[in-house]
Amino acid sequence: MPYDITTSRMSPGPREAWPAIRRGFGCTCPACGKGRMFGRYLKVNPVCEACGEEMFHEEAHDFPPYITISIVAHVVLLGVVLAEQHGNWPMWLHMAIWPVLTIILALALMQPVKGAVVGYQWARRMHGFGGDDEVILGKGEPQARSRDRTM
Ligand SMILES: [Zn+2]
Repeated sequence: MPYDITTSRMSPGPREAWPAIRRGFGCTCPACGKGRMFGRYLKVNPVCEACGEEMFHEEAHDFPPYITISIVAHVVLLGVVLAEQHGNWPMWLHMAIWPVLTIILALALMQPVKGAVVGYQWARRMHGFGGDDEVILGKGEPQARSRDRTM
């Protein structure tokens, strides 16, 4: 005899990923797109100032730098190759342009890329973005993850 099991921990409906990624790339709240995501350069605000969405669940870690390095490397290497093929630049000009461009691009892209990663995490309800406390299963009793992180 079939029966349904209903619990309070059933997952809520899906969230669209691309709008959340786009809002995050614009450094705004992935939920409403109005509140600022960052309080400082890479410090995510704990709560959206516009809609109250909790953003402290983010765990982007090293993924934004990884993506940023990949993008910047491709752009700068393409520039170097094109300059070598189609220009006759002296070495001092290469040495003046490419390192500076690399640093500027990396610093400019890091925040939007982190915002996009946090937007994706929010859309996929990762790391507590689903509304429930993340439960860490280990030996003994499961423990709810602390909400008052200091990072
Ligand atoms: Zn918001």
